Order: sequence, then structure tokens, then C-alpha cells
Amino acid sequence: MKLKSSLYVKYLVVALLIMSVSTVLAFLATNMYYQQVLKEQNDAKNTAIASRMAAYISGQSKLNLQEHLSMLGQAGYQIYVVNESGASGYYGGEYRRKELERSIIADVLAGDVYHGMRDYRKQLFVTGFFANDIRNSIGIPFVHEGQRYAMFVRPDIRLLFSEVHTMMGGMALLMLVVSLLAIIIAAWYLVRPIKKLTAATRRIAAEDFETHVRISRSDELGELAASFNRMAKQLLANEAERKSFIRNVSHDFQSPLLNIGGYAALLKQKELDEASRRQYAAVIENEAMRLSNLTKQLLLLTSLDQRGKSITRRSYALHEQIERIVMKYRWLLEKEEISISLDTDPLYLNGDEALLENVWENLLTNAIKYNKPGGKIRIRTERERKQVNVTFEDTGIGIAEQDLPHVFERFYRADASRSTNGTGLGLSIVKETVVLHQGEIRISSTRGEGTCVTVTLPIMPGADRLDTV
Ligand code: ATP
Ligand code: MG
Repeated sequence: MKLKSSLYVKYLVVALLIMSVSTVLAFLATNMYYQQVLKEQNDAKNTAIASRMAAYISGQSKLNLQEHLSMLGQAGYQIYVVNESGASGYYGGEYRRKELERSIIADVLAGDVYHGMRDYRKQLFVTGFFANDIRNSIGIPFVHEGQRYAMFVRPDIRLLFSEVHTMMGGMALLMLVVSLLAIIIAAWYLVRPIKKLTAATRRIAAEDFETHVRISRSDELGELAASFNRMAKQLLANEAERKSFIRNVSHDFQSPLLNIGGYAALLKQKELDEASRRQYAAVIENEAMRLSNLTKQLLLLTSLDQRGKSITRRSYALHEQIERIVMKYRWLLEKEEISISLDTDPLYLNGDEALLENVWENLLTNAIKYNKPGGKIRIRTERERKQVNVTFEDTGIGIAEQDLPHVFERFYRADASRSTNGTGLGLSIVKETVVLHQGEIRISSTRGEGTCVTVTLPIMPGADRLDTV
């Protein structure tokens, strides 16, 4: 782990920074509160206590002053008493600083109350509260046996540090230690999944698509891990698809090339009768056509893949397009003795004319190729609100139930159709084109009875409406 830039260290530093800044702010705030409010209150409270002490002494003429003051000292007060004639004494806990201006003593003797706690010099920290200084006391006058006295009182500082204070201090310290530990652990838990994900990303970059991260959390990191796993799964599937595609393509190129090579070698023979020569040449021609067809289909597939989601839409007459294609295949229909019925109203569609032409051509050639002699084909187009349905129905060999879900896969050919030429790419191209047009394709079939393919295409807003011409 690179310490300087690691997220873990950053998190710790930030957390510690937050802790220290908040401690300092809290300290300053309490200090301000002490200076503004508590100091005044503390002074008033202690003035009240001192006044009661003075009133008691003044009221008890038979009181033994020495004894009484020592008793108060033992009860937890630091007391300094001085009288008019200058005689003085300390009782209770000792003051650390004992300097007190004469004028203050004179004022108190004259009857004033000295508010040392309130007026004690301002300090940045609350420590003023604890200063064991005679100036940080309450001065109060009293009269005993005709003598005037000035008494300076403050509660004994040691008593302020009671068990409660120790407990509070301990609590604060414990809180600090526990939160530090918690931050260290939390940071580790936060960083660990990120490190796991980073390692997994590296594995993916090295093309190990079987990578899977095990992070079960319900937060954003858990979500990230779940999407990562989904991505890895998709990449694995893509990789498998790519490999099978290459396998299929090579195989589909390999067999016609082998045939061409084989028959070309046969053609080289010297004594070859005309009929065989023609037959071999026909095979070569046929295989060359197959290769050319395959290449065309592959090029079309690649161009569809590269297009992404963009097609150039143009408004054109769908019925005319379909009629044109049927015309094109009239010779084949006649040859195969297949009758065709065309049921199209004038319809205008907004789409890529060339791509859609390929769709209809594929569906028609399938309906011819996989038909039976004397079979029928029915083509219908109908408008349904904002979409158009084009249906190709044939009375051909049909598709077995187990093949039906696969016919849109690249290179898939049902066993029953292997006797006819084909690459198995036609329907996959049809489907991709239809999806590009934001349409849908459905196929239903019964073995031995026939097949029905329906293409539904949306009529885009802004396109020509399906008006009659
Ligand atoms: P290509 O169209 O590339 O020349 P193809 O016709 O074999 O080859 P697709 O059009 O993709 O390939 O069709 C895939 C498979 O689906 C066909 O091989 C065939 O088994 C089956 N199929 C498609 N249309 C029909 C149909 N109308 N009747 C019976 N089977 C069909
Ligand atoms: Mg086909």
C-alpha cells in the first residue's frame, strides 16, 4: 500500500483532523460560555455563600471566631481574614498566590463586596476557574465583637475535582480511544472492497473474464460490486460469442474453399468428359457464390454492429418495396411451383430502405427455400395505430419446437433445412435490423405445416402518415 496516496491513510487523516478541529472548537465554545455566563453565575453563587457566612458570624455575638473559621476551613473553604488593626489569618486549604492589594482590603473593610471571581483577569482557557489565587475569591465584610473584618473566601479547589470529574475525564479519554479504534476499523472496512475491486479490474484487463468479486454489502460499494460482476459476466458471454463466431465463420469458409480446391484439381485432369467438366465447374461456381453470399452477409452484420443505434430514416412506400421484391423472385416461385398472395394496402414507412429491403428479401427467400412443391406463401401488411405489421406465412416444412428459440442466432440452421443452401445468418440480420428500427419480430411454426413470421415496425412521428395515394 502506497502510504502517501492511499485512501485508507487519507480517511484516517481526515477523521483525525475532524476530531481535533471539533475538540478545539468545543473547547473554545465552552470557554466562551464560561467567560460570558458561568463566571458571573459562579461569582453570584459564591457571593451568596460568603454573605451567609458573614451574616452568621455577625449575628452570633458569643461565637468563637477562630474555631468557627477553622471549622469552615475544614468544611472545604479557603479563607483569609483580616481586621481593621491588621491582624490576619488563613483557614482551610492554602492559597497558592496570596498577594492582594491593600486598597481591596480597605474597600471590603469599609463595607464593599469584592467580586474577585467575576473580575479575575480573562484567560483564554477556563483554567481561570481553577486558579488558586486569593484574587480569585469573594471578599465580604463582617463585624465581630465590635471589630470590622474583611473575609476572602473561595471553595477549596481540590474539592472541585470530585469523583464525578475523574469519571468525566475518564469517559472523555475512553471515548477518544474507542472512536480512534472505530475509525481505524471503519476505514479498513471501507477500503478493503475497493482494493478487491481494483484487483478484479486488473484481472479483467488481463482478459480473465471469469473474475467474480465477493462483496456482500447493501450500500453503494455493494451495488458497484454487483454491477462489476454483471459486467464481467457480460464480457465472458461476449468473449464466448466472439469465439464461436470466429469458429463458425472459419468453418463456413473452410468447406466451400475445400470444395473449390478439390473440384479445381479434378478439372485439371486431361481426359475428362464434357459432362463431368461442366458439373465440376458448376460446383465451383456454386461454392464461389456461397462464399460471396457469406461475405456479403458478414459485411452487413459488421455494418449493423458498428451502426450502434443510428439508422438513416427516410419515408418511402412500403407496399411498393414488397411488390418489387416479389417480382424479383417471381422466376423462383414459378420454378418451385409456389403460389403467392400479396395483401398490402398503400403504406408509407419511415426507415432505412436498403436494410428493410434485405429483411423482406430474407423472409421471402426463407418462405420459398423451406417450402414444399406446390406450396403457398401469403404476405400481408396492415396498419395498427402507430405501427405496421408485415406477415410472411408459408405452408412449408415448418420448424421443430426445439429449434424455434434459436433461429435468430447467428449461424443457426435447423437440421431439416441443411439440404438447402444457406449460412444461417439471414434471420439474425433480420432481427438486428428490426431492433435497430425499434420494432419486433415474432415467429410461430408447426412442423410439417408451415411458418408465420410477423415484423412489427413503429411509424415514427414526423414521418409521412399512412395516407392513401
Ligand atoms: P441464409 O438466410 O443466411 O441464407 P438460412 O436461411 O439457413 O441462411 P436463416 O434465414 O437465418 O438462415 O434461418 C435460420 C434457420 O431457420 C434456417 O436454416 C431454417 O432451419 C429455419 N427457418 C427460417 N425460416 C424458415 C421457414 N420459413 N420455414 C422453415 N424453416 C425456417
Ligand atoms: Mg434465410
